[in-house]
Amino acid sequence: MKIIDGYLFIDGDWRKSSTGETFECVNPADEEVVARCATAGIDDVLAAVAAARRAFDEGPWPRWSASKRGAVLHRLADLVERDADEMARRETLNTGKTWFDSRKIEIPFAAQVLRYFAGMADKWGGRSLPGREDALLLTQKQPVGVVAAITPWNFPFLLAAWKIGPALAAGCTFILKPASLTPLSALHFASLCEEAGLPKGVFNLVTGSGSLVGSALAGHEEVDKIAFTGSTEVGRMVQEKAAATNKRVTMELGGKSPNIVFADADLRAAARGALTGIFYNKGEVCAAGSRLLVERSIYDDFVKGLAAKAEGMKVGDPMAKETRMGPVISRAQLESALDYIAAGKAEGARLVAGGEKADLGKGFYLRPTIFADVDPGMRIAREEIFGPVLSVLPFEGEEEALETANGSSFGLAAGVWTRDIGKALRLAQGIRAGTVWVNAYNLYDPGLPFGGFKQSGFGRELGIEAIDSYLETKSIWVQL
Ligand code: NAD
Repeated sequence: MKIIDGYLFIDGDWRKSSTGETFECVNPADEEVVARCATAGIDDVLAAVAAARRAFDEGPWPRWSASKRGAVLHRLADLVERDADEMARRETLNTGKTWFDSRKIEIPFAAQVLRYFAGMADKWGGRSLPGREDALLLTQKQPVGVVAAITPWNFPFLLAAWKIGPALAAGCTFILKPASLTPLSALHFASLCEEAGLPKGVFNLVTGSGSLVGSALAGHEEVDKIAFTGSTEVGRMVQEKAAATNKRVTMELGGKSPNIVFADADLRAAARGALTGIFYNKGEVCAAGSRLLVERSIYDDFVKGLAAKAEGMKVGDPMAKETRMGPVISRAQLESALDYIAAGKAEGARLVAGGEKADLGKGFYLRPTIFADVDPGMRIAREEIFGPVLSVLPFEGEEEALETANGSSFGLAAGVWTRDIGKALRLAQGIRAGTVWVNAYNLYDPGLPFGGFKQSGFGRELGIEAIDSYLETKSIWVQL
């Protein structure tokens, strides 16, 4: 089936939006319009929900054997791999992430995630319980029903795949509302569903605004679950909307993650980890190590080395081989990061790298930016910037490191760099965050759950844990 950017994918068919309107997708590297996508209206949301509902209540998908569903998910993974060049091209054109990151890391990882959950399709199940002589007590797991996923623009297809995989493996039906800035890879994925053998209505794609489409999905009575990834603020709004019908919700939200470097670490590896921790995907990573905590005794040299490396990073055309960092996603995001840089300066932090736009003619380019001597009270230490801006804070000893690391309303991820295994494990246990990397940063595996503590959200994606949030537990009492 052909890819049709200006259409919605509902009930196995491409259709025009009921509004007749389209919105532009812009390449952040040169500000050119690369596609026009359909602006869905309320009628389209209603049609998508009706299709997913029908496919769940009456269609074959939840009734097929689990292994048959797994086989379809495997085929979807195969097709994503077959079309990885096109998927990656769309991802890079739409986000400004480097071709290497799209083609070598994120699209292959998305396929791997689909495969992981394909394998899980026939492995989840209930229990039989001990405890009574007069009755057989059983639990059975059943799919939660119609799932609506609302996803962000930083890893457009990858984060959709984190939801599509477990939802489909559980036997749910699905509606995807991608971020309006970045629908292009999801549109290609929709074009693969029929070829993979997915029955009509199981996967639906509705492009359009968050305030209309996302909000309507969150409020719709026939949607059983919302899987949301995005900002903490919008997440709160989605929860309020979903509360009216007591929907199941999972929330993957923002972060301000600490990356802690002790003096006894392998400092070359730690410096590399600090840089990828903040500059991978231009800092547009929910788990970005945006607060770098460096032990006082190595602080000056470490910061100096880091600043020199950041200044040497090649910023430019994301399709070019030598580019290490592409443009940020949009003009609004560029301006927001520049506002934070101004706030950092005004609050007295010391700018040691970047701090301004990289002038390449067109495009939303920002130089990799590092502030040293940041105080935990400053805005650049507390708020998520979601751009290539690092705040470095000095600390003295393990206790202060832990206290500073935990002094945040967020709790998504953290890094600890040390050669002392005891210290590493104490920190790994003490930090209130969903993921702690030891002597590594920003690494993911389909089997390792990911999600937040505190205001970074709740629920887990990836791993065995993920599938539970797409299942209901039914208890069955059989009187003997
Ligand atoms: P966002 O919250 O602005 O948008 C996320 C999604 O919500 C988009 O699809 C958007 O269209 C939709 N939306 C907007 N308003 C809505 C409303 N009123 N009702 C329903 N839906 C609405 O986030 P973003 O700018 O796309 O992404 C950046 C944020 O996402 C950052 O805060 C980042 O930390 C977070 N994020 C978290 C994770 C994680 O796994 N924890 C991963 C990636 C991004």
